[in-house]
Amino acid sequence: MNVAAQSRVQMPSGPPVDDAAFLAEVRAFLGVALTADLREAGRGTLGVHSDIAAGRLWHRRLFERGWAAPVWPIAWGGAGWSMRQKFLFDRECALNDAPILFAGGVRSLGPLLIEMGTPEQRARFIPGILSGDDLWCQGFSEPSAGSDLVAVTTRAVRVGDCYRVTGSKIWTTGAHHSNRMFAIVRTADGEKPHHGLTFLLIDMASPGLTVVPIIGLAGDHEFNQVFFDAVEAPVRNRVGDEGCGWTVAKRLMQLARSNNTPSALIRRVLRRAAAASDVGADLEPGLRARLAALAIELEAFEAVELHALARGTVDAGDPRGSSMLKLIGSELHQKVAELAMQIAGPAAAAALQALAVETGLDPRGAKAMAKHLCVRAASVYSGTSEIQRNVIGKYLLGA
Ligand SMILES: Cc1cc2nc3c(=O)[nH]c(=O)nc-3n(C[C@H](O)[C@H](O)[C@H](O)COP(=O)(O)OP(=O)(O)OC[C@H]3O[C@@H](n4cnc5c(N)ncnc54)[C@H](O)[C@@H]3O)c2cc1C
Repeated sequence: MNVAAQSRVQMPSGPPVDDAAFLAEVRAFLGVALTADLREAGRGTLGVHSDIAAGRLWHRRLFERGWAAPVWPIAWGGAGWSMRQKFLFDRECALNDAPILFAGGVRSLGPLLIEMGTPEQRARFIPGILSGDDLWCQGFSEPSAGSDLVAVTTRAVRVGDCYRVTGSKIWTTGAHHSNRMFAIVRTADGEKPHHGLTFLLIDMASPGLTVVPIIGLAGDHEFNQVFFDAVEAPVRNRVGDEGCGWTVAKRLMQLARSNNTPSALIRRVLRRAAAASDVGADLEPGLRARLAALAIELEAFEAVELHALARGTVDAGDPRGSSMLKLIGSELHQKVAELAMQIAGPAAAAALQALAVETGLDPRGAKAMAKHLCVRAASVYSGTSEIQRNVIGKYLLGA
């Protein structure tokens, strides 16, 4: 398949937005739809997404309002917003503690199918992505293939009108909540490692598929190892041609980055740190000064993010957009989460809430520690900081 010839999903730059009118509409909606229990679930988020039931409910409310897929074209059920509107919306959600969605379907697979899927794949999968009825996990990493993703060895052998998949994926966030997975698998040993890869959509209820939990440092269960023992996936579930999976996967990763607002995630943690500092009236002046400095850094980061979105450098995969935002954003995220943990003080020593309660420590401290541990992963997932530096370095050196 000639990918260049496929129609690209236009992330609309749109007409100039009347920010005030748009924000008024968003705030009015949040005021009604974002109920106290949903706000509580958003505030209580310790991992990369909120409690899954609360997230599903929030997704449903967004879907009913027509806002489940903010930057998808209206023709495909999206809101058709500009990237700036999406940024403002995500910021407002962060300021109001909306749940963080487990939304690989909306963020990455949906736009990919609109761009590169068959008419049948779009008809079958897009409605479930929009409504939130289908949850999609990402089966890319393997025990020996992370940064070097083209080293995947999970093998798919074609038998009649299906592929039989055998191997293992790891660090699969939300595999235990998902009913579907998009994955890259090896269908041939090409001259170059990326030549024999194929992009498949797999039903998580397939016989031979096993999900094994991986428990995080704070006792959380967010990711998993997934094993495939001759798992069957129909050929009609292949996106792109056999052997062209690397091109498809790269485009999916670009779409995922361009559909993200890292500053909104950081703002949530900053809000929590600020709230904790209000509680501790005798907060050490050094910590108070760092809180103010990080708030200013976040304002600056938001300005950079908006600039990159306006120039379209995130969607285009230009390292000045995607890699720099990922690198700076991950580091700022970690600095803020670390400060929140320090503000919590000795109560943060118990990373497990149950332990905090047992030992008479403030459970909010345990939450700050759990969040700090989770955010350590920000410089690893979606491409490590070292890999982002390589990409930026190569670009700047013209290599
Ligand atoms: C919270 C979390 C959620 C995740 N969710 C998913 C998911 O849902 N689906 C999925 O498929 N994957 C997921 N991942 C996996 C993630 O994509 C990988 O962990 C990441 O790509 C790094 O791969 P790795 O862990 O194999 O580390 P490695 O690639 O083995 O890297 C180890 C170290 O070596 C460094 N390194 C490697 N290569 C180079 C190089 N060329 N130059 C300089 N330094 C290098 C790395 O920066 C790192 O410090 C998740 C990871 C985390 C932490």
